[in-house]
Amino acid sequence: MAESLAEAVSRRRTFAIIAHPDAGKTTLTEKLLLFGGAIQLAGEVKAKKDRMQTRSDWMKIERERGISVVTSVMTFEYKDNVFNILDTPGHEDFADDTYRTLTAVDAAVMVIDAAKGIEPRTLKLFEVCRMRDIPIITFINKMDRESRDPFEILDEVEEKLALDCAPVTWPIGRSKTFCGTYHLANNEVRASDTQEIMTKVTDPEMVAHRLPENERDAFIEETTLAIEACKPFDRKAFLEGHLTPVFFGSALRNFGVRDLIDALGEFAPPPRDQVADIRTVQATDNKMTAFVFKIQANMDPNHRDRIAFARICSGKLERGMKARLSRTGKQLGLTAPQFFFASQRQLADTAYAGDVVGIPNHGTLRIGDTLTEGESLVFQGVPNFSPEILRRVRLEDAMKAKKLKEALQQMAEEGVVQLFSPEDGSPAIVGVVGALQLDVLKERLMAEYGLPVSFEMSRFSVCRWISADQPAELEKFITARRGDIARDLDHDPVFLAQDSFSLRYEAERYPAIKMAALKEYH
Ligand code: GDP
Repeated sequence: MAESLAEAVSRRRTFAIIAHPDAGKTTLTEKLLLFGGAIQLAGEVKAKKDRMQTRSDWMKIERERGISVVTSVMTFEYKDNVFNILDTPGHEDFADDTYRTLTAVDAAVMVIDAAKGIEPRTLKLFEVCRMRDIPIITFINKMDRESRDPFEILDEVEEKLALDCAPVTWPIGRSKTFCGTYHLANNEVRASDTQEIMTKVTDPEMVAHRLPENERDAFIEETTLAIEACKPFDRKAFLEGHLTPVFFGSALRNFGVRDLIDALGEFAPPPRDQVADIRTVQATDNKMTAFVFKIQANMDPNHRDRIAFARICSGKLERGMKARLSRTGKQLGLTAPQFFFASQRQLADTAYAGDVVGIPNHGTLRIGDTLTEGESLVFQGVPNFSPEILRRVRLEDAMKAKKLKEALQQMAEEGVVQLFSPEDGSPAIVGVVGALQLDVLKERLMAEYGLPVSFEMSRFSVCRWISADQPAELEKFITARRGDIARDLDHDPVFLAQDSFSLRYEAERYPAIKMAALKEYH
């Protein structure tokens, strides 16, 4: 019998893995994919990562395009669930891309290195999840190595993240003696991820005999304390973002990953409702809606093909259907939407809320775009961050100015950089959050457009989107400060300031002008 829309939606789990580099995100991703049979060979994800290790290699990969496209989202099925893992770039210079990707997930897995605890990037990513009330499952990785005391790690999570911890499993042994996980509430032992079956026990004492004699008492004490002193798992508090269920394991040695994937299936929320300008869209609404959170250039630079990654928010996307693009009101034929697996893509005949499809296009779609079955509706909340670095692009060959303009426009639409066109007609300014983005821009302008460029300091270092309740006030400001005003890709005005001091000064002089460091696509 055909699956109903509600059933299809309730099976979906769409999540991201957040971690400080080296905590084990890649290894964990790979092991999760293995459960779904999405990859046959452990190592495919790793192989890609190793090649991405150095910067120059990374560029090469970017040019070869296919690989990074393939790994932006990975779909697999396990037991009754369809899982979509959205990949986020590891390097902090691509933070804006990561933040946008987090707008498209319903849950996150936070990976913590058991020896290192909460690291700076974990904290940052966690803050974004909290801003968006994304429920978090914690995986404490590398228990097969020297690690901190589990209680100490839990305390750190509670203190640094102000998040209650509910340990669901407990590690049996540490480093060399680590040999499995013990489910605190169910009294079940899982010796390794390769085993589906868990051994039922009556109490920790029965588990302790798996350990060397000198560790047994400590294990019994710890688990008794964990059961008595820690918060029990509470799904409501988890979904509201106040509490995280905690799992221990070793992705590398195949411990705890099965506990984690079972938890994702059992606890993690199905596709959530999504706020739009005119109403909140329910995931089980019949009509298809989706939004674009990422654009990536396709494999063939000659055709300027791009893949827009769209998260379905409601209804059913069917191949061949027509969708309305809210920004322009125009129709768009969804002739070749695609699903991504670990090493291949496939035409998507049908996709449901929670799924992410790649939509090939020639520049019609932009980040933040909403697609519907006809309704004039716009999803809110895909952010654009004010750049930290502003530069003028210097072209070696002045004859190619027009081509550069086109190329920059395309790069900006793809989200590689932000582009600001000064009102006074002076050359465009590009803005980025991290310096590596400039390297990518330079590399791609050369490789894809044959444009050798360099970057010059601009006299500006800060940029803010400006608006005012009274349009006249805004006009007055724009006229008065014409030399410091530019337009972004959507033609929205920004104020460019030399430094934060002059920004504050102007903000005080013109109290009617709102200066925003963050713009939500609309
Ligand atoms: P990422 O940077 O977060 O993607 O981390 P990786 O998955 O690449 O892991 C970083 C390093 O830690 C690699 O050398 C992994 O082999 C290693 N690693 C990952 N998980 C474990 C684990 O559970 N135990 C041990 N001992 N090493 C691990």
